[in-house]
Amino acid sequence: MAGDHPRNTGPMMESSRCGAKTRSGTPCKSPAVSGKKRCRMHGGAKGSGAQRGNTNALKHGWYSAEFVEMRREVNEILRSGRATLKELK
Ligand SMILES: [Zn+2]
Repeated sequence: MAGDHPRNTGPMMESSRCGAKTRSGTPCKSPAVSGKKRCRMHGGAKGSGAQRGNTNALKHGWYSAEFVEMRREVNEILRSGRATLKELK
């Protein structure tokens, strides 16, 4: 999870960094609280935030992990379908 994103790997970025946008427009870059994506100043504090899978702010589910995964699979099928059509020509 946190820390395995390409942006967060490499010797210079051993720990995951907070990605909150500061008032100057640049990312915060403070070390994120372990297990979270934000530093203690930006919502990573103990006891803040919701559990994974929380749906309090859910509007349509279009960006939920489930739907993102489904779209990925559909795109995969479409891609292979197009490749097959190309072969037939
Ligand atoms: Zn921060």
